[in-house]
Amino acid sequence: MSKKSKFVIERIKILDFAAEGKCIVKNDGEVIFVDGSNVCPGDEVRLLVHKSKKKYAEGRILETLSYSEDRVKPHCEHFGVCGGCKWQHIPYDVQLMQKNKQVLDQLQRLGKVDISTAKPILGSAKTAFYRNKLEFTFSNSRWFTDEDKEQDKNSNALGFHIPKRFDKVLPIKTCFHQADPSNAILNYFQKIAEESGLLFYDHVAHTGFFRTVMVRITSIGQVMVFIQFAQNKPDEIKKILTNFLSTFPTVNSLSYTINTKRNDSYFDLEVVHFAGLPYITEKMEDLTFRIGVKSFYQTNSEQAYELYKIVRNLAEIKPTDVVYDLYTGTGTIANFVAKQAARVIGIEYIEDAIKDAKINSEINNISNTAFFYGDMAKIFTEEFVTKNGKPNIVITDPPRAGMDKAVIEVLLQILPEKIVYVSCNAGTQARDLALLSEKYEVLNIQPVDMFPHTFHVENVVSLKLK
Ligand code: SAH
Repeated sequence: MSKKSKFVIERIKILDFAAEGKCIVKNDGEVIFVDGSNVCPGDEVRLLVHKSKKKYAEGRILETLSYSEDRVKPHCEHFGVCGGCKWQHIPYDVQLMQKNKQVLDQLQRLGKVDISTAKPILGSAKTAFYRNKLEFTFSNSRWFTDEDKEQDKNSNALGFHIPKRFDKVLPIKTCFHQADPSNAILNYFQKIAEESGLLFYDHVAHTGFFRTVMVRITSIGQVMVFIQFAQNKPDEIKKILTNFLSTFPTVNSLSYTINTKRNDSYFDLEVVHFAGLPYITEKMEDLTFRIGVKSFYQTNSEQAYELYKIVRNLAEIKPTDVVYDLYTGTGTIANFVAKQAARVIGIEYIEDAIKDAKINSEINNISNTAFFYGDMAKIFTEEFVTKNGKPNIVITDPPRAGMDKAVIEVLLQILPEKIVYVSCNAGTQARDLALLSEKYEVLNIQPVDMFPHTFHVENVVSLKLK
């Protein structure tokens, strides 16, 4: 086997999928990981091996020489260039099988978890138009594909960033992620921004006017539009938004911000409310949730409902139970299970999210919840539990990094009867389950697909005190 740092393999067959959306090939027994965009097991490729490590190497496809028979035709014309849905060419049942396998592999390999009780992955009923939120970016540095170079020299674009290129944006015609009027709004802004003569944002020089357009649509059809401008031009902004409203009069919430920072994050900026209400409404069962510009809400609303039902079923909450919902976000799970419990306590580190969580309890006449904000490792302590009541059941839904070790240590001290662990990263979940295995046994495992055509997968595990 060659140990040269860089070399080309002229023809090699893609063997299988690997974790994190990658694929693998084997060259003289050595495993080479290949970036998983637009590649399918069974493809034959010309491969540049660009990194060799002790136990494996990494490669990049230079050319696909023959395509696997297992591929399906991607439904989106931007597939392969746009970084959005990298698995469109993989049949959905195969995507599900792979996600299921990856979750179980990681639980077994990294967490030594007994996976015999695992239920098969729950697929998403919708595999297109399943997102409730999208953000389109303006750029004066359009990404040209081979086809459009000749006919179109205009370098303005509104669409999505090209993977790993902060400055380049691919103009999107139709995105299959979000239902109408999302694409109509996208096309509208492409057109009026161009015609206005005002500048599309320059991500290198940090100049220009039009920056981003965010569209949110709830499952009951309410629409929110939020625009970032990079300069404060009150007359222009008023004209643009007034014209927009006359074309899209049913938009429920329209607002904007002036973002003169170097990045597109708006969480620290003032949102200027222009028309409609400052929030839109989402419904789940008999609950109503208010979603503001800055609120977090699971991006696949319908599958979020399925996920929460799984959580609620596995938690088996009794009317006397005290439930903690760790990493509660805007308190959606806490409010969703509140009816079953004596009391629910939600903890989260974003203060605004906790404000939303409280509002969501209030508007649903839920009076048995309490919400606290702060870093979990600092706020969720034995003293906190002594003061606020010991949980019988803990639901936890941490970010990709998993739970802080200090949080797990508190769980191992206070010993709730049951833990329901929702994770978007089975690797860190497996690590945390191994730490909890000292006192807890795994009862149920249920992977859930929230993001068709991507390699992301959620997993729910319920644990019982031994
Ligand atoms: N359960 C919620 C959101 C889960 S997303 C829902 O279903 O809607 C994970 C949440 O963890 C995010 O809201 C994030 O802000 C929060 N978070 C991340 N790190 C944290 C930390 N160190 N302490 C407290 N909360 C944290």
